[in-house]
Amino acid sequence: MGKNKQIILWKCIIACFLVMASMAVCAQNVQRIEFCDKKYEYGVGNDQITLFFRVIDGDRKRNQEMSAEELQNYLVIKEDGNIIPLSDCKIEALKSGQRIPADYTFSVLVDKSISQEGKERIFEAVGHLVESAPDGCVYLSFFGDEVTNSVPVNAESYKAMKEEMMKPAANKYFYGAIYAKLAEFNTASAEMENLVKQQTGYQKNSDIAKRAQLHKDKNILFVFTDSRVRPQDESIGFIEVTDFQNDRNHLMPKVYALYYTGNGEDENVKAILQGISQVRDSTGTVVAERSGAYKPSDNMSTVMTEFEQAVKDAMYDYAFTYKATPGKIYHGHVAYQAEWKGTNVGEGDYSIGTAENPWPSHEETGSDTVMKYIIAVLVALLTMAFFFLIMKVLIPWVKSKSFNAKYYKKYVPEANVNRRICHFCKQDIQPGQLVVVKCRHIMHVPCWKANGYKCAEYGQNCKEGIQDHIEWKSLFSAASLRDCYQTFAGILAGLFSWVIFELTGRGLFRGLAEIIVNAGFTNDEQRSNLFGDCVNKTAAFLSIGLLLGFFLSLIFRYFDEYRNKNWKIYLKIFGLSLLSALIGMLAFALGAYIFCVLLSAVNTTYIPWYCSLPAYLLFSICLSLSLTIKSTIPMKSALLGGLCSAVIGFVVLYFSSISGSKYGWMSMLLDFIIYGGGLGASLVTVRMLAEKFFLAIQNGIKANQRIPIHKWMKVGNKVSIGMTGECEIQMNWEKSNKVAKEHVQLYVDTAKQLPMIKALAPGVFYNSRFELVVGKAAVLSNGDTFTVGDTIFKYEEN
Ligand SMILES: [Zn+2]
Ligand SMILES: [Zn+2]
Repeated sequence: MGKNKQIILWKCIIACFLVMASMAVCAQNVQRIEFCDKKYEYGVGNDQITLFFRVIDGDRKRNQEMSAEELQNYLVIKEDGNIIPLSDCKIEALKSGQRIPADYTFSVLVDKSISQEGKERIFEAVGHLVESAPDGCVYLSFFGDEVTNSVPVNAESYKAMKEEMMKPAANKYFYGAIYAKLAEFNTASAEMENLVKQQTGYQKNSDIAKRAQLHKDKNILFVFTDSRVRPQDESIGFIEVTDFQNDRNHLMPKVYALYYTGNGEDENVKAILQGISQVRDSTGTVVAERSGAYKPSDNMSTVMTEFEQAVKDAMYDYAFTYKATPGKIYHGHVAYQAEWKGTNVGEGDYSIGTAENPWPSHEETGSDTVMKYIIAVLVALLTMAFFFLIMKVLIPWVKSKSFNAKYYKKYVPEANVNRRICHFCKQDIQPGQLVVVKCRHIMHVPCWKANGYKCAEYGQNCKEGIQDHIEWKSLFSAASLRDCYQTFAGILAGLFSWVIFELTGRGLFRGLAEIIVNAGFTNDEQRSNLFGDCVNKTAAFLSIGLLLGFFLSLIFRYFDEYRNKNWKIYLKIFGLSLLSALIGMLAFALGAYIFCVLLSAVNTTYIPWYCSLPAYLLFSICLSLSLTIKSTIPMKSALLGGLCSAVIGFVVLYFSSISGSKYGWMSMLLDFIIYGGGLGASLVTVRMLAEKFFLAIQNGIKANQRIPIHKWMKVGNKVSIGMTGECEIQMNWEKSNKVAKEHVQLYVDTAKQLPMIKALAPGVFYNSRFELVVGKAAVLSNGDTFTVGDTIFKYEEN
């Protein structure tokens, strides 16, 4: 190796070392990464997530000077514990025009007497501020011949302000304008407000004070002025303005005074601008947290740079943008972790997507869509099978086993009894043989089973000797399936609702949702981060309420209707279902409001699962109650059934989203069908357990129909049976003209506490033996029958 080459090599090594050393020095400086905000958008093709953050260096100072490359070299961000690959991410140092936190309030006050060309440039610069700030952060006003109102501006409405701004002014009412704008940050009215030369109809914008209260350190007043026109003599002067500022009771924005001195410098103006931008206490020391800056320049470009720097101070410093993890469906809470050279330097929790509307969505081809609906139908069928297994196999099996444990006993000879005879085979029962001791009619276990798992006397002298068991042979019979019809109906209604939910973009009524969120969401700190998710969730809520309310009501009411259905009855079912839809939607609207209030109160950076729970419970309770209107369902059954199914549906929704199916729509489908099926099943179960009184029709086209009359069989209440719609049971299926308008009454006697029957017209045959005397009551016992017209009713008690 030649000497020259050696020198070059050494030079290279030293250079490399120096570069590495300098990088190491910079790199060591990061102490903390502060996550500030996140950004992502719903919709097809949007699968980029941006995290905004700031870098805090070793001296605990905000470091805005670090280059994106430096950060890229050492910063690792983990999403839910998994490293986001370098190839999928991009780090940017933010420039103005990119992102300002929503907690800031900017009041921009512009001097109309500035030259037209100057105002053009100010207008443009303020435009950048407006574009990078979330809506509602920036207020614009002018002064000159008079002080104008502070108008909230966004990227759209801002343009309309230009005409007003470009109007020239002959005067400059300067001190009053500043005084008025400072006063606007306070709710209480300022002493000298009335002395300000205001535009006609001037109004203090009360929103500014409201916002300012929430983040007292994030309020800024920008004042643009020059010296082309001299200030007028005013009753408010320098002393009045600074006195107002110095008062500790007043909330003060930081003032940035941007003074273009190209047209000469006015000492008065300079003094007051210096005075108000540097607030001093009684000893003359500058109060840093209340002070902005005085920035004079005879170069308009410098003035603009100063302005942009002040805006930049309020901004997030860096953005970390990455491609959403392929195949991952975001359903809500995502935890981020920042590592600097392997050390944990910061954490952030954000919500991405919601359980109701997972993110990202992708373009579906026609075959994808077909596949989706086929899978959905299969899932619905599987859910039906699942419910069927639970209701027809699992529950009877558990009941049967517990019955065995309780009532199958080895026979022990009793004192004073010398022989026991089996009530079925009439043989002696020997000590040690297995017997069933459910009722007093003791039987051998094999005899008990041979008799169909019941006592030989059951139905005549015995009311309790029966065991639940699985009838394998008749498991798939029509009768067995019929027991599950309400559950299947609920699942079908859930499936229909879900299909429409999908087809309508998972959430209609976005406008209404925004109004609700605006009313309930009071936490401005969360606003820029969570507002969009809340609107999305609320829109989904409203749709769910409407759809499930309508379809579940439609299908349950259809099956609850024991009468012959004519167009009037169909119309009634339809109308009442619309009512349920409205109630469901209102319940979810209120639920969404509660959700927003709750979310504002817990003050998290993401949406915790429990914030949504009240909305689902409220919806379910209201929907179940709406189902009791003009139906046979009693309130208690509805409430219990509704609560059970709401909890089941909610658990399914949130747990299936945690488990992370690759089909984003799956959790919502499961929620819809399991909620529907659960509501059907729990209504049936609760009724079976809690309700006592039924009328079973024995003959004719309505044979096997069981009408629950529990709702009306209460003391002081009655069930009337007859031809008119006034009756609780309207016999519109009777073709004979033997039925009166109101023919029979059933009720519970107050004194005897017994169910009674009273004929109101002749021809009521009691237990097919004798005719009831009109107007005279008779006791009604379990199993009694009576005829009205040609229909035989059997009274049943559970
Ligand atoms: Zn026997
Ligand atoms: Zn018995």
